[in-house]
Amino acid sequence: MLLRRITKHINDQNWFAVAIDFFIVVVGVFVGLQVSNWSNAQQDRRDETAILHALHTEITETEQLAENILYRRISSAIAIATATNILFGLAPQRELTTTECTALGSAHMLYFGRTNLPALERLQATGRLDIVRDTALNSALAKLLQRQEALEFTTSLSANAYDIGHLYPEIIEVSSALRHSDTREDLERGVTATCTAKAIKQNKGLMGDIAINADTYDAFMRDGLRPWLAQIQEVHRQLDITLNIQHGEDG
Ligand SMILES: [Zn+2]
Repeated sequence: MLLRRITKHINDQNWFAVAIDFFIVVVGVFVGLQVSNWSNAQQDRRDETAILHALHTEITETEQLAENILYRRISSAIAIATATNILFGLAPQRELTTTECTALGSAHMLYFGRTNLPALERLQATGRLDIVRDTALNSALAKLLQRQEALEFTTSLSANAYDIGHLYPEIIEVSSALRHSDTREDLERGVTATCTAKAIKQNKGLMGDIAINADTYDAFMRDGLRPWLAQIQEVHRQLDITLNIQHGEDG
């Protein structure tokens, strides 16, 4: 209808009427765009709140999971470093403990359980990370994605580590063990290893593999796990501020 009117005005050479028609079209488009922007913005705000709450739940769960596993990973890291120092004469000589032999025997396992955050990954995958308006939280999330990648990379280094219990079964004797769980009531299965410093030191191949495993484990802790966990805690702190969440002493 509008088009027919414009055509008529042009045919009549009524330029004033044409100008008004043109103005009506421009205003109409402008108003239409504004309404659509406004409703998109409203939708983004609703999505933002829902996503931040989902993210808070995921971060809290990940932290609890990490706490249990981290304790073991740190204990292993300490035992591996201590045993490696003794073997390479960087610490006073003494016999290795079962804990140290077990840590050496499982040093090639860098697995750290579930670390992904579906809500954050969905935001990244759909290119909508910018709906998080708080700049501090937004950059903390971007940094967490980087740390996540670094963690995955250092975890993949386990492909270069050596399963010494399998490669040197006469020297690193691995057996199955049951122990009390840190997290559950029942017993859980694990591996235990026995070894002697003297037998290890006599095998140059094994000594080299232990040096590489210790280095890989160190990189996993230093460049992967610790920075990732620090960033998880930072994102949690920022989320609590943005969502105005307060935890009790134990939360
Ligand atoms: Zn919280």
